[in-house]
Amino acid sequence: MDELRFDDRTVIVTGAGRGLGRSHALLFAARGARVVVNDLGGAVDGTGASPEPADAVVAEILSAGGDAVASYDSVADPDGAASIVRAALETFGGLDVVVNNAGISDVDSFDRLSTERWQRMVDVHLFGTVHVLQAAWPVMVEAGYGRVVNTFSEGGLGRIPKATSYGSAKGGVLGFTRTLASEGANLGISVNAISPRADTRSSAPEILAQIFDLPAETFAGVMKAMKPELVSPAAVFLAHESCTLNGEVLVVGEGQVCRMAIVENEGITRAALTPEDIAANLAKVMDVAGAHVVSINNLLETV
Ligand code: NAD
Repeated sequence: MDELRFDDRTVIVTGAGRGLGRSHALLFAARGARVVVNDLGGAVDGTGASPEPADAVVAEILSAGGDAVASYDSVADPDGAASIVRAALETFGGLDVVVNNAGISDVDSFDRLSTERWQRMVDVHLFGTVHVLQAAWPVMVEAGYGRVVNTFSEGGLGRIPKATSYGSAKGGVLGFTRTLASEGANLGISVNAISPRADTRSSAPEILAQIFDLPAETFAGVMKAMKPELVSPAAVFLAHESCTLNGEVLVVGEGQVCRMAIVENEGITRAALTPEDIAANLAKVMDVAGAHVVSINNLLETV
């Protein structure tokens, strides 16, 4: 198969100064894309800022012969998000792909997470994705073409303890991905997501130790195989013009890639349904053998 190339394509990667975003940006650039390397450069919990991470990745891309520009704006700020999109348009004259990757981590039990900490989490993950796309969407609609790759997490499925704010923000990203995908379907724009597994700052052994109440050494070896470079191929695939997926989530890490799907089974139907009907038929209500995948197709088309 021919290499999936991005020559003459402009790609924004948010949070591209470190970890997964850096790895995505390097792979896009190696495939010929002009890349806006956006990163606020803050601490893992979202506080602070520095131009250094974005500058370092731009320098890496330029020294390898690629094309990139740095952006230090916060995706959590609507004006900042608009200026990330402006950087693409003013520097490269267009915009084809947005990879919403910027993220923070703030691990704690629900009773200890203040409203302020919840707000910061939702502002970066959910509203960060929304703000960047609010600015990018009209450009893509006008062009009749666009590829969006958002970043979900298995934390949004309840699989990570002490992650109520993070999981909720990511749950919002999942709903946004699917609903926007159905809007983009007739506009030439696809919206998908990856759910990564990788050894990065946000999944450092010290953070995992806090999450799972185990010594940090427990995780040092496990994480080594989870290289960010083994996640980026899924982001790049979903961003390519040849990709026909829309509204999908690919779980990716350690060399594995698989589909994450929401399914619905036949359940039971009773003309005058009672709570006792549910109790008496719980096994049938819960059995997903033979269940179908819930698509993003308009509900009216599926009934
Ligand atoms: P990371 O901390 O290494 O990188 C995240 C980057 O985002 C940082 O460089 C940070 O400065 C930047 N950033 C944070 N807030 C920003 C803002 N408001 N505006 C612009 N940039 C901002 O973490 P990572 O693991 O590479 O995370 C990347 C994405 O992947 C996140 O959305 C994260 O939730 C998600 N994720 C990671 C894993 C994993 O296993 N590492 C698992 C599931 C989801």
